[in-house]
Amino acid sequence: MSQTRCLWCGEPLRFIPGKGWVHQDGKLYKEVRRQHCPYCKSRKIIDKGKTGLCLNCNSTFDLYYDDHCAMPDRRSR
Ligand SMILES: [Zn+2]
Ligand SMILES: [Zn+2]
Repeated sequence: MSQTRCLWCGEPLRFIPGKGWVHQDGKLYKEVRRQHCPYCKSRKIIDKGKTGLCLNCNSTFDLYYDDHCAMPDRRSR
């Protein structure tokens, strides 16, 4: 059986009955870690677990955000 990959990130997808296609971590949405502060775009952020703290503007924000929904790549190859 050929592996189905996500159209957006290329990660192999898993099929969960009743739920559909999910990423390897079992989540429909791909969580992506922020590289910049969402407010001032500074890269000087520190990791506080699930939240991030910006050293530039001192704001806190969710460090991970939902980037995209799992989408099986159905292109023939
Ligand atoms: Zn993906
Ligand atoms: Zn900031």
